[in-house]
Amino acid sequence: MILARTVKEVKDQVREWKKQGLSVGLVPTMGYLHEGHQSLVKRAVAENDKVVVSVFVNPIQFAPNEDLETYPRDLEADCALCESTGAAMVFHPEPDEMYGDDFTTFVDMTGVTKELCGKSRPTHFRGVCTVVNKLFNIVTPDKAYFGQKDAQQLAVIRRMVRNLNMNLEVVGCPIIREADGLAKSSRNTYLSAEERKAALVLSKAIFLGEKMIKDGERDGDKVLAAMTQLIESEPLAKIDYVEMVKWDSIEIHHQIDCPVLIAIAVYIGKTRLIDNFIAE
Ligand code: AMP
Repeated sequence: MILARTVKEVKDQVREWKKQGLSVGLVPTMGYLHEGHQSLVKRAVAENDKVVVSVFVNPIQFAPNEDLETYPRDLEADCALCESTGAAMVFHPEPDEMYGDDFTTFVDMTGVTKELCGKSRPTHFRGVCTVVNKLFNIVTPDKAYFGQKDAQQLAVIRRMVRNLNMNLEVVGCPIIREADGLAKSSRNTYLSAEERKAALVLSKAIFLGEKMIKDGERDGDKVLAAMTQLIESEPLAKIDYVEMVKWDSIEIHHQIDCPVLIAIAVYIGKTRLIDNFIAE
């Protein structure tokens, strides 16, 4: 497996692959990879001749008060996971390689970025769209893989690809969970033993909402109220949002009469965790 650190290395290698008629899949990540990321890499390996995994903690998607400095990193373990899963290349640029001194161009989006994480993190999706656009231009993948764990991000990227007529397919992949239900996340590493137990309240709320809808509830506000009550019963939990939106326009919606996304963001201590489900 190749470890590339420069844009040129990636472009030269991809050009060679394309000359040979090989298809290319891309899995963008911020590293500290776990089985959630691995499920994307596996799917990409099954559906493409060559798979590039980008490992880049993208500074421009973090606000000044967020965890850019402390975000967990382990390139060696990431490379081992990618290699054993069948990836052909890990792309791990330094921030300077991606954002030179003259960097002033950003990809911005309205509407779909307004609610949920876009509301709590107003500059986040501008950073995500910009870096993903750059990665698409560098790797020119046939397919790119994103997890439903970050459901709004998946909707945002799909919209960007459609709106800007980009030449690739976006593949959404299901949420991978720990055995007890907690959605796998690189940020779970921030949790103390006590917080790790408390964090279970997120997936419990998700499963409760899912069951209510499966049992026939069609009033979204009732579902959100029950989920909110459950989360508030956990002393270490502080709600950022518990919302229902149309999938995939991300507009606030109240009745379960079309595909909806129910999404939550909850602080457990200082750690902000997200989870969600889609109901039809
Ligand atoms: P991140 O490194 O957190 O930026 O995530 C990189 C990609 O992996 C994103 O498309 C995420 O949605 C996806 N991902 C992260 N955690 C999970 C998970 N538990 N299940 C499925 N996909 C995930």
